[in-house]
Amino acid sequence: MTSAVFRHVRQIDPVAGSDRVADLIIRDGMIQPPEAWARDLPQIDAEGLIAAPGFWDVHVHFRDPGNPAAETRRSGAAAAAAGGFTHVVTMPNTVPAGDSEEWVREQIEDTQLPVKILPSACVTRGRKGGEVADLERLAAAGAVAFTDDGSMVADDRVMAEAMRRARRLNRPVMDHAVVPSLAGAGVIRACPLAEQCGLPVFPPEAEVEAVRRDIRLCAETGCATHIQHISCAASVAAIREARAKGLPVTGEASPHHLALAAEEIPADDGNFRMNPPLGNRADVRALRDGVLDGTLTLFATDHAPHTVASKSNGFLKAPFGVIGLETAVGVTWRVMVEEEGMSVVQWVAAWTTGPAALLGLPAPSLAPGRVADVVLLDTRHPWLVVPDRFRSLSRDTPFAGWELPVKAVKTVCEGMTCEV
Ligand SMILES: [Zn+2]
Repeated sequence: MTSAVFRHVRQIDPVAGSDRVADLIIRDGMIQPPEAWARDLPQIDAEGLIAAPGFWDVHVHFRDPGNPAAETRRSGAAAAAAGGFTHVVTMPNTVPAGDSEEWVREQIEDTQLPVKILPSACVTRGRKGGEVADLERLAAAGAVAFTDDGSMVADDRVMAEAMRRARRLNRPVMDHAVVPSLAGAGVIRACPLAEQCGLPVFPPEAEVEAVRRDIRLCAETGCATHIQHISCAASVAAIREARAKGLPVTGEASPHHLALAAEEIPADDGNFRMNPPLGNRADVRALRDGVLDGTLTLFATDHAPHTVASKSNGFLKAPFGVIGLETAVGVTWRVMVEEEGMSVVQWVAAWTTGPAALLGLPAPSLAPGRVADVVLLDTRHPWLVVPDRFRSLSRDTPFAGWELPVKAVKTVCEGMTCEV
């Protein structure tokens, strides 16, 4: 259990709305009030560092079970802790798919990990889209949300039934909002590279139509409805309008969709292929505006590991997805705090209270009396992204060679320290 005093650390707590320099005292894994007598504890000079509640990522793929060469729970959890995360929501598009109580329990009962796994489970049996899974049993086993991520639940009647049942269970439904028939074989948004290399185009309507459908079903059912990895300006506008009407709709912005536009893809490189694809410049602008004005209340990485071999033969042959856990903090700080002037309190909220609110779980906080879930961030030493240094088993990042301004240097999860 962690016991230490972090002296003169800049503490960011979105629950209190506070940003102040003070000593952070942790004794036996619990956060102590400032007046707690602490001279017997190890004193760590943390001047210049930021302390925040440990970060939450509601969208990670650990490929466990099914593809241990790309990632395992162990390697994925190590990558998460190294990236500053204490809580991750694992996606159920594993092999087999996460539609059983056994699958959910296996995720939760792996307690030797440096982060806490909060599993989501399938909306439909086998992620096939035809029949709603046993949501009641999955929730009782510990599933925090339902999603068929990787595929949209395209049948409106199936989705509506799932949303009614999820609402009774107080769990959100999270949708990979892409209409398959509209996406077709598309791999990239319209841009000069697509034209130059003859790559099939993935039109924005494939996402926007799905987002509108999900909002309509949200209005019908009252279910907390979450749109995963938003990439289009029109999706942001639709969510803004729905939230203004009071609908329980949320959306997530991924670091890659916030940082990169299709026009900036440097080459026919499989590490820039993800689903949905990178938006155009106007979409990136709209996504950033959506985060700044509170339309999009959380960041999420969509950490999607794939082996080097599978990603090394250009856009057409690569699978969809890129990893993000070890670069997310630095990338979102650079684009949102440095470039857009987002307040550090709001930035921390998008990694902590935003995700927890989506899941209906207590807000992460540095308040005295809480079990210590804390990340320490260093903003003084920019670092270079070298994929071969990742804890993740995979290397599929579009950020190789970037210099990032922030790095997690220590993660304390449930009172236990993970040195990064
Ligand atoms: Zn997805």
